[in-house]
Amino acid sequence: MSAEMIDGKKIAQEMREQLKDRIAQLQDLTPGLAVILTGDNQASKTYVSMKQKACEALGIYSKLIELPDTVTQSELLKVIHELNDDAKIHGILVQLPLPDHISETSVIEAIHPSKDVDGFHPINVGRLQTGGEAFYPCTPNGIMKMLEYQNVDPAGKHAVIVGRSNIVGKPMGQLLLKRGATVTYCHSKTADLAIHTKQADILVSAVGVKDLITADHIKKGAVVIDVGMNRNDEGKLCGDVDYEECSMKASAITPVPGGVGPMTITMLLFNTVESAERFSR
Ligand code: NDP
Repeated sequence: MSAEMIDGKKIAQEMREQLKDRIAQLQDLTPGLAVILTGDNQASKTYVSMKQKACEALGIYSKLIELPDTVTQSELLKVIHELNDDAKIHGILVQLPLPDHISETSVIEAIHPSKDVDGFHPINVGRLQTGGEAFYPCTPNGIMKMLEYQNVDPAGKHAVIVGRSNIVGKPMGQLLLKRGATVTYCHSKTADLAIHTKQADILVSAVGVKDLITADHIKKGAVVIDVGMNRNDEGKLCGDVDYEECSMKASAITPVPGGVGPMTITMLLFNTVESAERFSR
């Protein structure tokens, strides 16, 4: 029997409708997101424009600050400090990657934690583990929402995460742990990937290698979440998971495109609205 497809587009749309209601309740306060774009990276420009369009569609004020790739670190930090003090702005996002001469750590740490809607500031990263008011990184938090919509309760399940990046893999494991899953992390040094992935009730692959996960890597009935974004031989977007093969064995699976991707931007909007709500209290 073929797996149920987890429709990220549909879930994202439903969540955006709910956000519209929350924005309406803010009455005279308009949530504001500032996006800082450095340099000329085409992929970054595309992501930023998608984020801006998504903001506009919901009535979130979005401010784009474009800086040349020659911008100095102190100039960039000054812009961030001004946005930290700007009452119209509730979320600040610095589009990565940054030019080589700028320290990503210094930039992330300059954003005030209460406006860090990407959830990358060490205060937010720490609070994800220890508790307290925090922003969680958009991609793994979006996956948690997808599991919720799908009625998949992580408690008591074995979750296996392939990938240990700060933006996806590590926080994914932390969020699942918080919800009661037993978590295993795999990465490029893992000796035998399939031994671990085959034990997963919930398998999340966040690697960036096409067809890394085949039917031989999964247990029958597993929930398979594909974060990877790769191009196949025809140049089409695809994930880490061999969808055709794995959907014959999994109970539920996300497609690429149309799975995790639409949720990531939605969670950025979600965090921005949440931030505005916190500021309005
Ligand atoms: P990174 O490159 O930062 O991390 C990749 C991880 O995969 C690393 O931990 C690496 O291990 C691990 N890895 C690499 N090769 C293997 C392998 N053969 N077997 C097991 N593990 C391996 O990537 P990101 O976490 O930023 O992103 C991961 C993927 O998700 C990318 O394709 C990216 O484009 C996509 N992505 C999609 C998003 C969406 O919204 N859909 C959002 C963010 C990312 P090690 O640490 O040992 O090097």
